[in-house]
Amino acid sequence: MLPFALLALAPLTSASSSCDTHPPKPPPLNFHIDLAPTLSTSALVVTPDNPQFSYYTHQNLKSKSPQYSVVVVVATEADVSAAVTFANKHDIPFTAKVSGHGTWAGLGDIKGGMNIWLRNLSSVVVAEDRGHVVVGGGAMVDEVVGRLWEGGKQTATALGQCIGITGSGIGGGLGPLMGVYGLGLDQFVGFRVVLANGTVVSADVETNPDLFWALRGAGHNFGIITEVKLRIYDRKGSSDWSYRQLSFSGDKVEAVFDEINNKRRASPPPPLSEILYQLIDVLQAIIDLRLFSNAFSPSQLEAYAASFLALSPLKNTTTLALDYPGLIAEMGYATAPEGCTPPAGSFGSVFGAAVERHVPAAMRKMYNLFNEVIKTIPELWASYIFVEGYGTEAMRQVPERSTAWAHRVPHGMCWTDGSGINVVLAYKADQMNATLEGIVQKRGEEIRAAKLEGQDRQRSYVNYAVKQESLESMYGYEAWRLEKLRGLKKELDPKNRFGFFAPIF
Ligand SMILES: Cc1cc2nc3c(=O)[nH]c(=O)nc-3n(C[C@H](O)[C@H](O)[C@H](O)COP(=O)(O)OP(=O)(O)OC[C@H]3O[C@@H](n4cnc5c(N)ncnc54)[C@H](O)[C@@H]3O)c2cc1C
Repeated sequence: MLPFALLALAPLTSASSSCDTHPPKPPPLNFHIDLAPTLSTSALVVTPDNPQFSYYTHQNLKSKSPQYSVVVVVATEADVSAAVTFANKHDIPFTAKVSGHGTWAGLGDIKGGMNIWLRNLSSVVVAEDRGHVVVGGGAMVDEVVGRLWEGGKQTATALGQCIGITGSGIGGGLGPLMGVYGLGLDQFVGFRVVLANGTVVSADVETNPDLFWALRGAGHNFGIITEVKLRIYDRKGSSDWSYRQLSFSGDKVEAVFDEINNKRRASPPPPLSEILYQLIDVLQAIIDLRLFSNAFSPSQLEAYAASFLALSPLKNTTTLALDYPGLIAEMGYATAPEGCTPPAGSFGSVFGAAVERHVPAAMRKMYNLFNEVIKTIPELWASYIFVEGYGTEAMRQVPERSTAWAHRVPHGMCWTDGSGINVVLAYKADQMNATLEGIVQKRGEEIRAAKLEGQDRQRSYVNYAVKQESLESMYGYEAWRLEKLRGLKKELDPKNRFGFFAPIF
């Protein structure tokens, strides 16, 4: 206890010292006065009093919504740099935003933050060599795919069309052309990046090669990419994709996944992708299998699908011959409808993990748990499971150590040979419901644990991770990889400004 004399003196002492040593508090920031003049005349500063504020801050899964105090609608690379510099000076947490599809729960830790809105950096310019395209950091996948298609070109991107080509690519970029050209990130040959301290640098195989390495796999941690250069390829003729859809009732879970294992474990694995959705029917989830390939002719795909047909599907389509935009549309991934727009006001979470091979008993357990959840908790009607298994041949050819992507292990791991399985538990509401959130977390983790039964260890795709996943499961179990990432992070972002999406520390 302080002696009485000191206690008596304490208020007097602190009052006089505050007059002597503490400067008067600065007036509160006015973003329109303090920030706007540091930006180009085409940039916009949007504050919560603006009716457009929610347009810029919308999140696909609202449970992960950051709380922003300002949006900077950038028009130039220099705007991004000025916004980062301003945010640092005033200690404002910030993040880049393109589509708002990011599911990492840590985004919700942003309070009073700055949203650096990149959508206007959406240029798509085919280089003179016709072998590359230079794309703005805010461009969407469909903008790049569409522009290239018009010019007779294509490249490997995510299947989802309404997500950022950069945001999806820096974590991987899984999609139908992965087996032909590699991952989305394997197409990236150079970046322009605004670093955590606001400086702008280039990164490619010769300039800042370590940053170039890290941006391809762990990119969310290192900067805001204003521009990226990608490899592009001549596209084939039209209708080069063969596509077939088959639906099965829930009693076929083991048989369907057994058959997928049999086919996928062939050496070499088939040049084909399969996507499964488990959609909610009236009473239970049905298994909706889509097979597609641009190496198989329709008759080859028919032959491939014969063993699935022998399992007596509920429904099956004829085999279609489609071009790439046709394939995207047929699968419901064209920009506007189902694939892009979640039910308005969706809350919930993703529970993803990659598996080395399907364990039919684990898939059965996952399916039963999922069914039980959607039957007993009707509010979770918007939930679904999707299982992705893309072709992998070209992805395997890229040297494992050449990028920070940790799942390119040479023999039989995750996307090399198996699939990503994502369970989305979602509900529609005007506001977040704490009880439902608790149920989603608890039941979602149970379902995730079920699907991982029989796997050696968990592997998580950064772009579908939410925060429960270990660093090793996202960035690799090899010590050298994490050491390299941590070293770079300390050097380039010591204050962890880019710490709101799958952070390395
Ligand atoms: C409907 C849907 C379909 C999907 N389909 C696929 C798919 O086919 N294949 C696949 O691999 N993934 C897919 N995903 C996952 C997708 O890759 C991630 O959700 C990804 O985070 C989306 O990036 P975004 O930029 O669109 O989202 P945003 O929410 O805008 O951004 C997410 C995070 O990415 C970072 N970021 C975005 N842009 C930049 C930039 N220019 N520079 C630096 N950091 C940046 C920021 O950290 C940001 O917080 C899909 C998701 C949804 C919801």
